Amino acid sequence: MRICVLGAGVVGVATAYYLAGDGHEVTVVDGAAAAGLETSFANGGQLSYSYVAPLADPSVIPKLPTWLIRADSPLRFVPRVEPQQWWWLLRFLRACTLHASREATIQLLALGFYSRALVHTIVREEKIAFDYVRNGKLVLYRSAQGLQGAKRQMAFQATLGAEQEALSGAACLDIEPALAPLAGVLAGGIYTPSEDAGDCHKFTRALAGIAESRGVVFRYGTRAISLITQGRRIAALRTDRGEIEADAFVVAAGIGSLEILRAVGIRAPLYPINGYSLTLPVGPQHKPPRISITDTHNKVVYAPLGDRLRIAGMADVTGLSSGPDPKRLALLTRQARETFPEGGDYANAATWFGRRPATPTSKPVLGATAYGNLWLNIGQGSLGFTLACGSAKLVVDAIAGRPPAISPAGFAWPAR
Ligand SMILES: Cc1cc2nc3c(=O)[nH]c(=O)nc-3n(C[C@H](O)[C@H](O)[C@H](O)COP(=O)(O)OP(=O)(O)OC[C@H]3O[C@@H](n4cnc5c(N)ncnc54)[C@H](O)[C@@H]3O)c2cc1C
Repeated sequence: MRICVLGAGVVGVATAYYLAGDGHEVTVVDGAAAAGLETSFANGGQLSYSYVAPLADPSVIPKLPTWLIRADSPLRFVPRVEPQQWWWLLRFLRACTLHASREATIQLLALGFYSRALVHTIVREEKIAFDYVRNGKLVLYRSAQGLQGAKRQMAFQATLGAEQEALSGAACLDIEPALAPLAGVLAGGIYTPSEDAGDCHKFTRALAGIAESRGVVFRYGTRAISLITQGRRIAALRTDRGEIEADAFVVAAGIGSLEILRAVGIRAPLYPINGYSLTLPVGPQHKPPRISITDTHNKVVYAPLGDRLRIAGMADVTGLSSGPDPKRLALLTRQARETFPEGGDYANAATWFGRRPATPTSKPVLGATAYGNLWLNIGQGSLGFTLACGSAKLVVDAIAGRPPAISPAGFAWPAR
């Protein structure tokens, strides 16, 4: 089949890679000059297959006033006169039940574990270089209450096959000596040895290169304008460089999917959650963490990427077209300096702003639509690098009519 994939972020590129493996004639369209230049560019680098629990959870309800009022809260909400924001928020609140949160955790963990197996296969078979490490992840808690809640989640996840271990504050320092500046502050942590890290941009570029060598055509610098419908089918994609006809279309355009889909009557459950990252050069004089770290107090993640340290954080629900806020970046920098003062060369940090394509349930939307030949691969939110391979394989299996390796039911459109 001739298949047109819209979007060359990590999700669209993984889709094209698996489609090429099935022998399809694939064209990928992206407005940027190369693959992986939008949200897949400088994210946290975490392949955190066991940390996929949704943001929507009963415990967030009491925190909402803080998100509204405090400018230094790691999560920030600024109300806008935007129907999509309120529509999204209502669905988010509806998902804040124990039942919904547990259901989503079960489905996302299955997708996370499936993605882990697929990433490992790619690493083994394709030999791509993306500063990949199987270094494990330590999630830190500064309060006894926070640690207790994490232990409950760990016990639940153990019933689903996650292998994690609770550590005391002192044991956290033993496992990661670079945490010395936090001695005395830590209540403890949850350690997951099976987590990986890597550079999402390098991964996306390398996988796009492999897909290209297998016949995939990448049309960069090509802005998609609309899908042209013919009854309940899509006939072509209209772009600023002409129309592209195909037998099937996959929308994987990150937050850009919202507009493209709206024009054909599909309301995607997407809203941007903005965040920032810093990338520090690391020299022999620095003391970066060796394993991936999540500091839950500030909601900041740290990943060693070769001779760099990637630091990412902030989750800002501040508007469909909101841009970077220098105060939030300054806050992230201050928090990172306090946690790892010698983690790297802060004076020469590269800074970045990105927009997570988030759904209210934190679950991506994968698979068929009401149009017979239009498929979705959207909404990976804060876990797009982690979930890209599993999401793409599920969509490609659905297009092929092949039985999937895990149940895709929880990810179907329209999203519940
Ligand atoms: C601060 C931050 C930290 C993060 N940390 C992590 C992490 O540690 N681990 C993890 O798993 N995930 C993380 N994420 C999430 C992850 O980066 C995203 O989920 C992922 O990059 C989304 O990939 P995507 O391919 O869907 O979107 P994108 O990478 O945004 O790709 C979409 C592509 O579509 C193109 N496009 C859009 N509209 C159009 C159009 N009309 N015409 C043509 N092209 C179009 C864009 O140019 C873009 O290339 C983080 C995100 C942020 C912001």
